[in-house]
Amino acid sequence: MRNEHLEGAGSPMTEEELAVEKTLRPSRFSEFRGQKTVTDNLAVFVEAARGRQEALDHVLLHGPPGLGKTTLAHIIARELGVHLHITSGPVLDKPANLAGILTKLEARDVLFIDEIHRLSPTIEEYLYSAMEDFRIDILLDSGQSTQNISLSLLPFTLIGATTRAGLLTAPLRERFGIKSRLDYYDNDTLQGIVQRAAQLLATPIDTKAAFEIGRRSRGTPRIAGHLLRRTRDFAQIKTKGHITLPITNQALSALGVDKNGLDDMDNSILSTLVDKFDGGPVGLTNLATSVNE
Ligand code: ADP
Repeated sequence: MRNEHLEGAGSPMTEEELAVEKTLRPSRFSEFRGQKTVTDNLAVFVEAARGRQEALDHVLLHGPPGLGKTTLAHIIARELGVHLHITSGPVLDKPANLAGILTKLEARDVLFIDEIHRLSPTIEEYLYSAMEDFRIDILLDSGQSTQNISLSLLPFTLIGATTRAGLLTAPLRERFGIKSRLDYYDNDTLQGIVQRAAQLLATPIDTKAAFEIGRRSRGTPRIAGHLLRRTRDFAQIKTKGHITLPITNQALSALGVDKNGLDDMDNSILSTLVDKFDGGPVGLTNLATSVNE
């Protein structure tokens, strides 16, 4: 069993958790910590597009879950001064859905498609002309006759996010003028992210405690935010809300997150690899059987 507290992809979040995550979201490039090369470049492209009053080139953001792809899409739209429309690959299952969304976009708006690697091939085809020529051809089937209609669109920016850039088809990938890869965060940056989030949650936190939460978060801001909120619950009951290092250690061990940010299953896999298979290599099926997963 995976430890839900360490899911960067976020095990299904409650309404309340989603709301809290929203309030913790940085809304400007200046508030976004880490990924400096990515944000510095994006800030230049955004400012240039804005100065020319043109739509920003299409942007592909790729990297593991919870590292800030959605957050960056919000920031880009905000800094461009345009609306952000959000959808995802699996949701966009019919050409009519896509046409509906695209024709609603105002000039220079941003359309964010999460999990873009999960678009169906048909929808992807439609997207090509939309991205390249700001035009979409749809086939209207009225039963007796079919009619091909060409709709012209206002210039817009597509921001695609994916955790699996390798699954993107070459023609789709080529249509993104800007491609940025997000990487795991270092501990100091995560400490800063935890401190900023604690401040927004009006929760006092010691520096060492913030560092400890960051260090155990697997390089992932979403996990850091989650562990901070759970630690805050412990602090509320035990130390009148103040997050200290001892209460952090206590909370994280109660959540099954060890010193290295690993859970029981991670440790079981690692020790099986080392002890039973002499450090590997070992096939996944063998490994899974050995740890009863
Ligand atoms: P992704 O889309 O890559 O899965 P999100 O953009 O949804 O990740 O980020 C998850 C959470 O982590 C957000 O709520 C946001 O508060 C936080 N977060 C991500 N990156 C940063 C960052 N650089 N600075 C501060 N918080 C961040």
